[in-house]
Amino acid sequence: MKQEEVINIVMSINECVILNNGVKMPWLGLGVFGSGEGQETINAVRYAFESGYRGVDTASLYGNEKSVGMAVRQSSIPREEIFVTTKVWNTDQGYDSTLKAFDKSKKTLGLDYVDLYLIHWPVKNHYIDTWRALEKLYNEGLVRAIGVSNFNKHHLQDIFTESDIIPAVNQVEFHPNFVQNELFSFCDSNGIRLEAWSPLARGRVFEHQTILSLCAKYGKTPAQIVLRWELQKGIVVIPKSSNKDRIIENSKIFDFELDITEIGHIDNMHTGIRIGADPDNFDF
Ligand code: NDP
Repeated sequence: MKQEEVINIVMSINECVILNNGVKMPWLGLGVFGSGEGQETINAVRYAFESGYRGVDTASLYGNEKSVGMAVRQSSIPREEIFVTTKVWNTDQGYDSTLKAFDKSKKTLGLDYVDLYLIHWPVKNHYIDTWRALEKLYNEGLVRAIGVSNFNKHHLQDIFTESDIIPAVNQVEFHPNFVQNELFSFCDSNGIRLEAWSPLARGRVFEHQTILSLCAKYGKTPAQIVLRWELQKGIVVIPKSSNKDRIIENSKIFDFELDITEIGHIDNMHTGIRIGADPDNFDF
């Protein structure tokens, strides 16, 4: 299936994508990178749950796992309806150190299990050992699904060679300025779900004429147009906000449909300019 041919119509916040191991993952989750530990994150997750979100994306790096876990535990939503993602940071990579890092994250979250555990970046000479640790955690039932983040095709191919478990998810930079259609197609044809980080390009695309004309046509905000474009491409989205109104705004994306031409117009906004680092050339 070619990316250009995909039109994924999701019309309810309750709809989930089924990952390659049968686990259901919400199409929309709340990102919490930069959201402060304590009340800021607790409130953001609470607002998100109240608006119908069921996914939360954190990482040990973000320093707010404690607050995410607290908000999940304080919520009246059954744990099995909530989908929590966290990630192993680069300096913890390797087999034993990843197992230790997971144990720490799990304790900090205060949860019995994590829904999705990701390798945050493909750290050279380490990510295969890290993946083996994730396999162990998966086989022991401590995580419901395992995946990667910031992996290019060749990193994924290394995993295919070394392991019997295909990552369920690849979380990568993806927004109208950085449209990774080739990587999407590769992941899609191998059963790996693409998830967009910085799905809003941190606001950098909001003034673009293509987006503004779609806002006028559909009566939607730039953030809503961009998130809808990603959803219809079959990409899971985790917009970050700690502002109640914007958290709600970002959830109102299930009541309109872009057409294939409009999806193509947004694809054409690709500039190749990244927000984050290049997975083939990073030094952290
Ligand atoms: P986003 O593209 O989600 O943009 C977030 C920014 O946009 C914030 O400054 C937020 O401010 C603002 N914003 C949110 N909603 C709106 C809106 N409706 N209108 C106007 N402004 C808005 O960027 P992120 O980089 O945070 O990416 C999202 C998530 O992806 C992260 O939180 C994290 O969970 C994950 N991530 C993963 C990475 C990885 O390497 N795996 C790397 C980077 C991110 P405010 O809070 O004030 O609303």
